[in-house]
Amino acid sequence: MTLLSTLNPPQRQAVTTTTGPVLVLAGPGSGKTRVLTHRAAYLIQELGVEPWRLMAVTFTNKAAGVMSERTAALLDSPQGLRGMILGTFHSICARFLRMQAVAIGLNPRYVIFDSDDQLQVVKQALRDLNLDEKRYNPRAIHAAISNAKNELLTPETFPITTHHEEIAARVYARYQHLLALSSALDFDDLLMRAVFMLRDHEPIRRQYQQRLQYIMVDEFQDTNSAQYELVRLLAEGQRNVFVVGDEDQSIYGWRGADFRNVERFRQDFPDAKVILLEQNYRSTQIILDAANALISRNFHRTPKKLFTDRGAGVKIVLHQAFDEQDEGNFILDEIVRLQQEGAAQPGDCAIMYRTNAQSRAVEEAFIRRGVPYRLVGATRFYNRREIKDALAYMRLAHNPHDDVSLRRVINVPPRSIGAASVDRLSSWAATLDASLYTGLRLLGGDAEPELAARAGVHPFSGRARTALMHFYTLLQGWIAAGSVLTPAQLLDRILDESGYRDWLQDGSEEAQERWDNVLELRTVSAGYDDLPRDQALAAFLEEVALVSDVDDYEASSNAPTLLTLHAAKGLEFGVVFITGLEEGLLPHSRSLEDPDGMEEERRLAYVGVTRAANRLYLLHTFRRSAWGRSEPSAPSRFLRDLPASVTSGHRPGSAHRRMTTWGREPQAPASRHSPSNRLQFSPGQRVRHPTFGEGTVITSTLMGGDEEVSVAFRSQGVKRFLASLANLKPV
Ligand code: ATP
Ligand code: MG
Repeated sequence: MTLLSTLNPPQRQAVTTTTGPVLVLAGPGSGKTRVLTHRAAYLIQELGVEPWRLMAVTFTNKAAGVMSERTAALLDSPQGLRGMILGTFHSICARFLRMQAVAIGLNPRYVIFDSDDQLQVVKQALRDLNLDEKRYNPRAIHAAISNAKNELLTPETFPITTHHEEIAARVYARYQHLLALSSALDFDDLLMRAVFMLRDHEPIRRQYQQRLQYIMVDEFQDTNSAQYELVRLLAEGQRNVFVVGDEDQSIYGWRGADFRNVERFRQDFPDAKVILLEQNYRSTQIILDAANALISRNFHRTPKKLFTDRGAGVKIVLHQAFDEQDEGNFILDEIVRLQQEGAAQPGDCAIMYRTNAQSRAVEEAFIRRGVPYRLVGATRFYNRREIKDALAYMRLAHNPHDDVSLRRVINVPPRSIGAASVDRLSSWAATLDASLYTGLRLLGGDAEPELAARAGVHPFSGRARTALMHFYTLLQGWIAAGSVLTPAQLLDRILDESGYRDWLQDGSEEAQERWDNVLELRTVSAGYDDLPRDQALAAFLEEVALVSDVDDYEASSNAPTLLTLHAAKGLEFGVVFITGLEEGLLPHSRSLEDPDGMEEERRLAYVGVTRAANRLYLLHTFRRSAWGRSEPSAPSRFLRDLPASVTSGHRPGSAHRRMTTWGREPQAPASRHSPSNRLQFSPGQRVRHPTFGEGTVITSTLMGGDEEVSVAFRSQGVKRFLASLANLKPV
């Protein structure tokens, strides 16, 4: 049995314990994902289980792609995976809901609203309720709604103890109503509705429980309550549920992930066999030592030791750059040097950062030198204006009740439907509690008589009505075409008839780029040519709605990858550069005041460090421009936790030494020569400000005889003061 011969004994046990619940808890690089793919292959190939009786869930589409490739590669027949349910939680739920839509009273043509669309709907809900956007931050309210859904709380069960929660609950109710009018679901709905479907519809639940003989979950530590509940409900039937995770890599707490789900799992499946894997196959001992030193400072964890037989390897390079440009240049120099020395290929390298905004400076360094790179996330293809426009048209052809899409393109390109007309249509539809499209149908005399009677006389001038009817006619044509043309043909027809193609191509260079993007979308849509016509459009729209940031990642070309630490989860690279190891950035300023948040920041750094197989670079700057200002930066506290034996380069210590050790700085600011012993405040110190309250000092520097202090406040973010004026008091 060659399948098992490449596994160590506990891994083999994890693969072959196929009956009953199994929990694999193990550190990074210990083969959790490998065990999961081998187990799927083992079940299919050795035990003859039919693939459609297997379900494997993971966190990103990218990880799902890798999982499916790896499993298929282990099978004798490349077709061997056919029918297996494999994907992210969201994509699997979307599929379940689509299949069962009619039974649970959902429009099977539902569309999925992305984050932008969701924010539009929150704003609309606020307007409908006469609540001021400036007073009630739409993003904050959206986050509250999203958290509630991840906890399976509906507007009715949403707990209210404060005024803000009362507002959030009202907006939540209106938000759901607006989604329903558009026949739309948001990302969180996919999970919540799937859970409710299984909970409330016994026949459906039994059907899935009987079908799914084996359930496997990767990255289990990052499941939220809804995801956990889904797994539990599906697994209750046959109880052959296999979950793998590492509590130290839980990095989605801010999205409701809760590694206490591991505890819940143990309670719900008390007979679960627990398997620990201790050998790391990914990284050198030096990298593991650094990782262990870093994570062992967290309190809420079970200590564990990782070992490798890969040997010590090269030391970790600590480097302080002058600023973010210098940081980017240093990375490029190193990548070029590694390639010249034959130590690594550019494609083996990854550059990771805490926040998307940090990619810009690194990208600039690449662009200046003409070196290609791959960027994951940030300027997401699907966020581009022209792509959103084209998709809005496609969505309308599929489900014309989608108000967000209708508003988006009703006058793009301009077709004499002004904002006043749209407003009028909108309030007319609102009085009837109907979608905008229903409004258009009324106007066109196509609505049900009962509704027409209720609607009465329409409120439009002759010219406005003509313009609206012109659009309505186009739209009807596309709806009809949606079920007979392939998605690519439909897109062509829409681009043509809507005038969008001509409108976009105004001859400028930017226009050419935009048009190229639309063509790229066409290429994506052509991938659905082979599906039955009545399913192709739905499948295409569903997939593009669910692509996450990580999907832009293309493994083949030999270029370094730029990505956030969050997106790096589960991946591995020969050489890893982590940039911006600075107080306020990693750990992020949002978490400086919050012990749980700080532990999560540490886990995030740990995830980054443990992506590296052979070489690791930890970078920080002397000063960094952020939010339009250049600020002196303080090295991350995480750097101080690394044992001296594993690093080369300068280890940040006292403030004074820190300020004199950057590399090839273009220009040194005067303050760096100031003796540090005159500083009144030091990083980490707790202080009180008369207006902002208590906070934590992040940096303090002498500036022309005064002391400049930046302080992180829990709710106000980071503020900068002059000590002589600010009246800061130590607490
Ligand atoms: P993470 O927690 O980072 O997701 P993981 O536990 O899922 O890590 P894998 O990605 O499965 O770890 O494995 C890490 C690397 O080690 C992979 O390249 C994998 O192929 C390799 N590996 C794991 N087990 C073995 C083994 N028994 N023999 C050889 N290579 C192995
Ligand atoms: Mg893994």
